[in-house]
Amino acid sequence: MNSRIKTNKVNACIVVLARNNELYQLKSSMRQFEERWNKKFNYPYVFLNDVEFSEAFINQTSSITQSETKYAVIPKEMWSYPSWINQTKAAENRKKAEQDHVIYGGSESYRHMCRFNSGFFFRHPALLDYDYYWRLEPSVEFMCDIDYDPFLFMKKNDLYYGFTISLYEFEDTIPTLWNTTKKFMKEYPHYINDDNSLKWITNDENNYNLCHFWSNFEIANLNFWRSEQYIKYFEYLDKEGGFFYERWGDAPVHSLGLALFVNKSKIHFFNDISYSHPPYQHCPIDKEFHESGRCHCDPNKSFDTDWYSCTEKWWAL
Ligand code: GDP
Ligand code: MN
Repeated sequence: MNSRIKTNKVNACIVVLARNNELYQLKSSMRQFEERWNKKFNYPYVFLNDVEFSEAFINQTSSITQSETKYAVIPKEMWSYPSWINQTKAAENRKKAEQDHVIYGGSESYRHMCRFNSGFFFRHPALLDYDYYWRLEPSVEFMCDIDYDPFLFMKKNDLYYGFTISLYEFEDTIPTLWNTTKKFMKEYPHYINDDNSLKWITNDENNYNLCHFWSNFEIANLNFWRSEQYIKYFEYLDKEGGFFYERWGDAPVHSLGLALFVNKSKIHFFNDISYSHPPYQHCPIDKEFHESGRCHCDPNKSFDTDWYSCTEKWWAL
């Protein structure tokens, strides 16, 4: 039993979408996550899966943390085809995408995953009681101590979204996402924030430059995703069918939504959280912090200033 006194001050949880066969990769993530941070704060975990979690998964993930752990299955309607999708066309397009070597182009489950993360996780029944979440994936690393509560930081500063890595998307996964987004902006101009981040995501010709926050790490406010403008945007995208006919990722969808609808000051770069999701990592380069945080990453390998990163562009904003 968890006999520790709850120290968490924010109504927040750690969200993990995972498959049963990722148990060991996930335990590896959890081990560092606990050691570097959560054992000091004891935020609860919510594990989500499109099928039932196995007994082994439940036993082993709950025994690696002192925190409360909850396990929930995703309702069918959040992980299936909407009625308007032509599944024959979707299957043909998957085949073609696979032949064209589009990353995850042939995968049906990956598309359901991206659609779920784009439009549904924040309204999954198991998450309805929470305001903030930290997304955690299998096979990630946290290489420095985190000695404060990022949730409290988010709440105190009324931030909506925190990231550690940003980069360019593969264009062939989202051929029509930008045009669809432009149509949406035309139809719903009142949703566009005056202090938006459009400059970060567009080039001189006003096309999408493919920049996005890498969504495998997110510390964010669930209520932003639940907002009228974001839900409308998601539904608009969903109607177009690009989650299935193309391979729209939740990362560009989240990023475009944020860029359009929120004040740019609501988005925070967590420089002090080291994070690795192969093949990229963010490692703090400040020497003093590197030592005080007992980091085990190489600051020279931090992705921030790589040509493929969009983070310098973000700083310029
Ligand atoms: P990548 O990071 O884009 O290479 O994709 P991942 O394979 O890491 O998937 C992203 C997240 O969704 C991870 O947390 C996976 O565990 C999870 N995920 C992906 N596909 C499925 C699936 O079919 N079922 C479940 N339950 N989780 C999935
Ligand atoms: Mn991943």
